[in-house]
Amino acid sequence: MRIIHTADELEAFVEATKAASKTIAFVPTMGALHDGHLSLVELAQQKADVVVVSIFVNPKQFGANEDFDKYPRTLNEDAKLLETKNVDVLFAPSVGEVYPPEGVREQRAGVVGSTFEGASRPGHFDGMLTVVGRLFDIVQPDFAIFGAKDAQQLFMVKKLAGALYKNTVIVAAPTHREPSGLAMSSRNRYLSDAQRISATALYKALKTLRQPLSLTLEAARTLIDSTPETKLDYIAVVDPEIFRPVTDDYRGKALAIVAAKVGNTRLIDNLELDLTEQSE
Ligand code: AMP
Repeated sequence: MRIIHTADELEAFVEATKAASKTIAFVPTMGALHDGHLSLVELAQQKADVVVVSIFVNPKQFGANEDFDKYPRTLNEDAKLLETKNVDVLFAPSVGEVYPPEGVREQRAGVVGSTFEGASRPGHFDGMLTVVGRLFDIVQPDFAIFGAKDAQQLFMVKKLAGALYKNTVIVAAPTHREPSGLAMSSRNRYLSDAQRISATALYKALKTLRQPLSLTLEAARTLIDSTPETKLDYIAVVDPEIFRPVTDDYRGKALAIVAAKVGNTRLIDNLELDLTEQSE
């Protein structure tokens, strides 16, 4: 596996790869890799000839009071893991490489970008889309793999690619979970043993949702808020096409989304729902 730290070197690699008529699948991450990330790598390998994984903790997508400074950074371990997976290139740039003095194209997340995660984390999606755009400009991937775990992110990245990166196919990878149901996350390593048990309330709550949503959402809120050390941010059911809440008369595919703090750790999860059948 080649480890590349500069945009210039990666651009040269991309040029040579394209000249050899090979396709590129790209897996952007912030590192502290777990099995969820590795499932994205496996999907990438099924899609293209060459797999590029990036590890970059993007300062632009963290708020002033968030965990940018203490976000886990485990580059050596991550590199070893990716090596065992036969990844072709690990791109691990510095902040200065991603955001050079001459500036980069800033992306704006729009209306959906200020709801749910965006309401709790102002500016998060602008920063996320800006780094995704910058990385896409460098890597020029044929495929880019994103986890369904970050549902709103996936929604916004698909919009970005549809508008500006039409040559890049966005591939969604299913959420990887612990046997307890807890969605894998780099932030899970902040949790104590007791908090890890509490954190399973998110997925449990999502699984109780059905029509009439006004009733089941209320019960789900109570379930989460009665869990030790757990404080709900939001739980909602949205139309996956527009990422806006649906009502009790909605029938069809839907997406249940949740965010809560367990201790000081903010966790998110989601679950696809089929609300086609009348359940009353
Ligand atoms: P992160 O390093 O948290 O920015 O995540 C990098 C990519 O991995 C994103 O596309 C995430 O959605 C995805 N990802 C994170 N956790 C999981 C998981 N448990 N299952 C599947 N994909 C995940």
